[in-house]
Amino acid sequence: MAGGYAPSSLEEFDGCHHLDRHVPERTCVGCRGKAPRHRLVRVVVSTDNGLTVDSTATAPGRGAWIHPDENCLNQAIKKRAFARALRIDGPCDGETIRAQVVCLARHG
Ligand SMILES: [Zn+2]
Repeated sequence: MAGGYAPSSLEEFDGCHHLDRHVPERTCVGCRGKAPRHRLVRVVVSTDNGLTVDSTATAPGRGAWIHPDENCLNQAIKKRAFARALRIDGPCDGETIRAQVVCLARHG
């Protein structure tokens, strides 16, 4: 629902330790849930100080990780999580990556 905030069940899901091998995990800046990095997308600061999705996760410098999920993006924008994670001093418009995140959310 518009404006609604529904806590996800990710925390419960995280309690399941069926993975024995060490998988590097990252924390989503939106919902703060942890996930293996291949399940998240990396967001970096672009050359014009905006945000951009680092689709190959190889860009140098600081990165923020987020689920390819519009809800997580909304939360991250609301909390200004990108500015904090990327140490951006000033306004930081998460809307610029919305189309990319939505696209990723749709295509997996
Ligand atoms: Zn998330």
